[in-house]
Formats: sequence, C-alpha cells, structure tokens
Amino acid sequence: MKTLLNDLLSNIRNTNFDLLEAKVFWEEQKKKYQQQGDEENANFVWAILAIITIHHDYRSAHEKLQNAEYYEAWCEAEKVELTAKTLKRNNPQLFENIADIYNQVQILQSIYPYKLFSSSEILIEEHKCSICGKVRNFRNPCGHKVGFLYNGELCHNIVTKCQLVGIALVTDPVNKYAVAFAQDTNGKRIEYDYSPIAFLMKRWKNPYQFWNYQVKEKTLLFYKI
Ligand SMILES: [Zn+2]
Repeated sequence: MKTLLNDLLSNIRNTNFDLLEAKVFWEEQKKKYQQQGDEENANFVWAILAIITIHHDYRSAHEKLQNAEYYEAWCEAEKVELTAKTLKRNNPQLFENIADIYNQVQILQSIYPYKLFSSSEILIEEHKCSICGKVRNFRNPCGHKVGFLYNGELCHNIVTKCQLVGIALVTDPVNKYAVAFAQDTNGKRIEYDYSPIAFLMKRWKNPYQFWNYQVKEKTLLFYKI
C-alpha cells in the first residue's frame, strides 16, 4: 500500500491526474479491508480518500473562481476545510500532505467580503449513531464518537426528530455556506464586491501555485509563496 500511496502523492498535483479514477480504485481497497474486518487499514484508506476529495474540491473551487462563480467557490472551499479538519483529527500524519492546501483555503476565505451568515437554531429531539444505528444521547452513549473513524467509516449523528426554533444572523457561523444575501426592492440579489478576488484570478492560473497577501493602505497586495 505504501508504494501505491507514494505514487498517488507524487502525481496528484498534476492537474491532468484523474482524481475520479483514483477514487474508484481506493474505494475498492477500502471495501476489501472492511470486509476483512481490518479496521486499521480501512481507516488508513479512508484518509487517502479524504486527500483525493480535498484535491477534487480544491480544484473545483479554483475552477469556479475562474468562472466568477464566487459563492459556489466559497462552498467548495468550505468542503475542503471540513474534510481537512476531519483528516487532521483522524490521521495528522497524512494531513501534512494537504496542509498547504488547507492553509491556502483559509487565506482565500479571508479575502471574501462575506460578513453575515444565517444560523438555524434547531432543537434536536432524537438522533442515531451512523455506525451502530442506536438512538444515543448524553445519558445513553453508544461508545462511538462523532467525527472519528470506525472500520473506514466516519461517525456522525443522523437526526431523526427535530424542531426548527428560529433563524439568527451571526458573524461566526457553524456553516459557512449560509451566507446572508441582501435583496433590492424587486427581490433581486444585491451582489457583494468581489473585485479583489477578480483581480487575483487574473493572475492565479494554477491552483497549486500558492499565494498570500498583505494589506497596504486598504489595498490587497498579493504575492507568491
Ligand atoms: Zn454507535
């Protein structure tokens, strides 16, 4: 497996590399380990698949930015952020292979003009464990922990009963995709000012060419890193 992983890591930053084909191959590997009950290797392959997903979503964010689809790119960037955090929690060593991408995504997010987000306040009355299917709560834990791996699968809650209590406007959202957009009197969305990103995209052609910026007299100055 080491050789196959090294092959993947040495080719994955070539923008012609077929991520979908790699995904299919590693999904098969994971299934094999899962069937054998080889939890260690199944979890390891989950981490390899997370790397492939991160590259896919990162490239997709860059592509959407090139097409001036700024909100859509923002959502792709959030997916990269979430997968990277889960990867770091479960396999800090493999996370190092995409640490630069995670860093770039955070820098990209920081130049977006979004400041307000909607936040749904949901009262969760019942949820089940995605691994064992048991209804769980603080008093009745099932032993599986949300955000961790079990035989190559990530544990999360499946909400089975809930109530929407309200919606709030927040500056530091749980879900970054919930951007608040203003509307004019005709119900048309008022667009944010994306000009710094548009300026950047004239120069940022290769997603793996990393960059940063500094603010000088209220202007963003971009530079390669
Ligand atoms: Zn469970």
